[in-house]
This record gives sequence, C-alpha cells and structure tokens, in this order.
Amino acid sequence: MKRLVLASGNPGKLRELSHILDDLGYELHPQSEFGVSEVAETGTTFVENAIIKARHATTHTDLPALADDSGIEVDALDGAPGVYSARFAGPGADDASNNALLVEKLRTVPAAQRTARYRAVIVLLRHAADPSPLICEGSWEGVIQLEPAGTGGFGYDPYFYLPQQGCTSAQLSRDEKNRLSHRGQALTELKRRLAEHGV
Ligand code: IMP
Repeated sequence: MKRLVLASGNPGKLRELSHILDDLGYELHPQSEFGVSEVAETGTTFVENAIIKARHATTHTDLPALADDSGIEVDALDGAPGVYSARFAGPGADDASNNALLVEKLRTVPAAQRTARYRAVIVLLRHAADPSPLICEGSWEGVIQLEPAGTGGFGYDPYFYLPQQGCTSAQLSRDEKNRLSHRGQALTELKRRLAEHGV
C-alpha cells in the first residue's frame, strides 16, 4: 500500500476518500495523525486553497498529500460566496446564518437570474515543490430558491434547486447526490486519473 496524507480533519471526507483509494492500493492518513494542524485558507480561488492545504500537509509529513476545497458560486452575486461559502455570514457563521444571508441578498432577484453552481476541487501534491499538482474538478448547476425544501445534505442544499431533477439537492437520496454532485464528479475524476497514472 502506498501512503497518502489527507489535508483535512473531517471524518466524512476521510471515509469517502479512503473507500475510493483503498481499491487502488493507497492508504490514506489524516494529517492529525502526524500532528499537522489546519492552515489558513488565504487563497481567493478553490484551486489555490486546495493547493495551500495540500502543500502544508506534504511539507510537514513528507508524504504525497490530498486536499479538497468546495463552495457555491451565485452569478447574481459575482460568484460569491465562492471560497467564503462556509463563512459567508462572518465569524461564527453556520448553515442557518449563511442561508439566511443568501436569501436576503437574492430576495429581489428574479428566479431566472438566481443561477448558481457548486464547485469542488481535489488536488494531489506529490511533494512540497511539485510544479504540476494533479487537479480534479467538478461543478453542479442549479438555481437558488428562496424557501427551503428537503432535509438531506448540508450547507446550502435546501435552497439549491435542480431544474432537471425538479427538487433541491436536500431532497435527493445520499446515493443520488453522490452520483450527481460536484464532489462526486471530482472524486470520479481523481479515481480515473490515479488508476491510469498513479501518484
Ligand atoms: P470546505 O469544507 O472548505 O470545502 O467548505 C465548503 C462549504 O461550501 C461548506 O461549508 C458549504 O457551505 C458549501 N458546500 C460545499 N459543498 C456543498 C454541498 O454539497 N452542499 C451544500 N453546501 C456545500
């Protein structure tokens, strides 16, 4: 088994990625196992933030590192909240306050202009000076609705309406969300590229 470090302490992400990588002969270790703490996400793009996190993890462990970053872009808000999706409502933000702010900002915007997309980026850095990180991306188009619907998922899901499915992403089963989502797409891409080329 080849060892990789995951630049995240999120147990859900560790489980999801371990499952995929196990099949390919990789053993994934959370950075906390090596005493690596979280680094500030100072980038203004998803790719930059994922690379900052992966570089921090590989620098401190000498292992190839995986990191991800994700968020939602709303066209009528010039792509906000983007990389600030988790902290849109400021310090102490949570899903409820972030969603309340999103709805407030879009209240007077017609539905046709409330287009948005989730984005996910997963990067793999072989070492700290790696000049060509593996970058896998996914995006998922939707429209922000002003009333919540559904109890599945997390974050902005109750407001993320999917025209093709005729429901929000919070109304999909977990399997269906994984099949369609930005993160699901990026993971599929990661799996394909690791299977083809390895680290
Ligand atoms: P990250 O953990 O730094 O990638 O932050 C991602 C943030 O983007 C989350 O806290 C959510 O606010 C939002 N987000 C990303 N993916 C999803 C999703 O699948 N559903 C709902 N919100 C999401």
